[in-house]
Amino acid sequence: MIKVILWDIDGTLLNFERAENYAVKKCFEIFELGVCTDEMVKRYSMINTKYWERLERNEITKQEVLVGRFREFFETEGLPIEKAVPFNDEYQVWLGDVVFFNDNAKMLVTELKEQGLMQFAVTNGTLTAQRKKLAASGLDKLLEKAFISDEIGVEKPNTAFFDRVFAEIAKVGNFKKEEILIVGDSLTSDIQGGNNANIPCCWYNPKGDQNTKGLRIDYEIQNLNELKKII
Ligand SMILES: [Mg+2]
Repeated sequence: MIKVILWDIDGTLLNFERAENYAVKKCFEIFELGVCTDEMVKRYSMINTKYWERLERNEITKQEVLVGRFREFFETEGLPIEKAVPFNDEYQVWLGDVVFFNDNAKMLVTELKEQGLMQFAVTNGTLTAQRKKLAASGLDKLLEKAFISDEIGVEKPNTAFFDRVFAEIAKVGNFKKEEILIVGDSLTSDIQGGNNANIPCCWYNPKGDQNTKGLRIDYEIQNLNELKKII
């Protein structure tokens, strides 16, 4: 029986694509970089994903992700590369400024809390953006605690990240690993992390992607509310 849920934030409880689109366009205005189309944001988004996956494999540092993604994007779009650093700083602020939920997720988290489940956030985002969006969304009041890789010093899917999570959870209750479920949209960070940590894994897969990584997936859902049937 599941008693604890570890929620991924971006792309799971919150709609990251919409927030990203908003924040990138906002920063284009601030830095007077001209028009930013949806296609440009999509190209940026692909670069961004590539950099985060490198970080998940411990090939580069967080700082190299944050600035490198915008350097590469600016370079390929013919924009001034020297603005990549201040652009990223500004981007963090705006990224945390807007909140779009997936599948009415706030109501779901509220219901599960009322049912007595303990819920935590497990996220690889930056401290600035994640703290801001957790507060803006009201999730900070519903979740017991947020584990942010920036604070822990290591990212999902590393076992060190989950060891730290389990140590904190042990302070509030005596839970077995099979009672702790991770729910996330990313195979490389959430599901790989759940596999590494040896806990049940629920893949939130709204677009119906293929499990290309050969990972153990205990549950697969296309809408977050399907979780109610699992728990
Ligand atoms: Mg995610």
